[in-house]
Amino acid sequence: MQLFRNFKSVTKTCYGRGSFGKLGEILEPQRGAHQRFFVFLVDHYFEGWDDFIARIPKQEGDELIFCSTEKEPSTEQIDGLRDDILARRGLPAGVIGIGGGNVMDVAKALSLMFTNEGSSVQYQGLNLIRKPGIYHCGVPTISGTGAEVSMTAVLTGPVKKLGLKCDWTVFDQIVLDPDLITTVPTDQWFYTGMDTYIHSVEAITGTKKNTFAEAYSEKALDLCREVYLKRDRSDPKSDELLMVASYMGGLSLTYSEVGVCHALSYGLGKVLEMHHCFANCVAFNQLEDVYGEYVQEFKHMVKERGVNLPANLAKDWDEKTLDAMAEVAYNLPHMWDHAFGPDWQKVLDRERIKGWYRRM
Ligand code: NAD
Ligand code: ZN
Repeated sequence: MQLFRNFKSVTKTCYGRGSFGKLGEILEPQRGAHQRFFVFLVDHYFEGWDDFIARIPKQEGDELIFCSTEKEPSTEQIDGLRDDILARRGLPAGVIGIGGGNVMDVAKALSLMFTNEGSSVQYQGLNLIRKPGIYHCGVPTISGTGAEVSMTAVLTGPVKKLGLKCDWTVFDQIVLDPDLITTVPTDQWFYTGMDTYIHSVEAITGTKKNTFAEAYSEKALDLCREVYLKRDRSDPKSDELLMVASYMGGLSLTYSEVGVCHALSYGLGKVLEMHHCFANCVAFNQLEDVYGEYVQEFKHMVKERGVNLPANLAKDWDEKTLDAMAEVAYNLPHMWDHAFGPDWQKVLDRERIKGWYRRM
C-alpha cells in the first residue's frame, strides 16, 4: 500500500450530552480583543423554537441567520451571504453552523469566502482556495454526512456540483451533542445515517482502501448496525452511537475515496436537485452488482425501519435526463479510479452508468 496524504483534522472536538451548553465558553476566546461579532447560521427547522434559540450563546451585535435547507448550498447563496455581511457589518470573528450537512457546509464555505476574493465558483475543486478562512465551528443537529469532520464544503455551482476542498475548510471546532439529534424525523434520520454507512462501504471497497480507512469504516459500520438493526430509536444510546458513526464514517474517507454510489448520487443531485443522502439511498438500493452483501444489509435495514424508499423513479426520466446525469457522474474520475482502478475507462462508459440509472 502506497498512498501518501498529509491531511488536516478538526482542531478541537467537544463531545457528550449537554455539550451544546458549553458553546458560549468555547467561543469566548475567539471574539478577540476588538470584541468582533459572530455569525450564527441556524437550520430553519429551529426557527420559532424559542427554548432552543435561547440556548445559542448570541451576544449583542452577533448575527443570527436562519438557513433554508430546501435546496443544497449553492455558490450563489454563499457569495450573496458573504457580500451582504461584509457590506453591512465588516469581517466577523467567526462563523458557527448549527444544523445538518447543509448548514455546516454553508458555514465552512462562508468562512473561506470571507477572505478569498471573487465568486466561490472559481474555488470549486481541490486546493484552489488561496487564503485561510476565518474561525469556524460546526454543531451538527442531524448525523450521518460526516460534514463535521470532512475537508470539503459541497456547493452546487452553475456548472459543477463540487466542494471547496482544502485544509482550511476543516472546522476549527466541533461540538457533538447527541441531545440535538433526537427530533429528526424517522425517514430523514435513516437517509442521513445511511450516508455514513455508504461512506464506510465505499471507503473500503476500492483501490484506495487502506488500514487507516478500514479501521474507521469497520467501526462506523458496526455502530450503524447497532443503531439501525439492534436498538430502538427511543433508546438514548442510539443517538450517541449514530453521532460517533457519522464522525468515523467521515474520517474513513479522509484517507480513501467515495465510489460508484456517490458518483451516481451526484448526477441525481445536480440534474434533479435530489438531496444527497436520499439520492445515495436511491442509488445504493440498486448497486448489488457492485456492493453485494452490503446492499443486502442496507435493504434489510430499510425493511426493519419501515423506511419509505421509492422505486421506479426512472420511468419519469427521459433520455436527455439520463444523458445529463450520466455526464455528471462520468466526470468524477477520482471516484471511478477508486472504484475500478486507473484503467476504469476500459470497464465504464456512459451507457453502463445509464444502465444503473434505469434501474432506479
Ligand atoms: P440537511 O442538512 O439538509 O438536513 C435534513 C433535514 O433535516 C432538513 O430538513 C433539516 O431542516 C432537518 N433537520 C436538521 N436537524 C434537525 C433536527 N434536529 N430535528 C429535526 N429536523 C432537523 O441534510 P443532511 O442529510 O444532514 O446533509 C445533506 C447536505 O450535506 C447536502 O447539502 C450535502 O451536499 C452535504 N454533504 C456534505 C458532506 C461533506 O463532507 N461536506 C458530506 C455529505 C453530504
Ligand atoms: Zn455522502
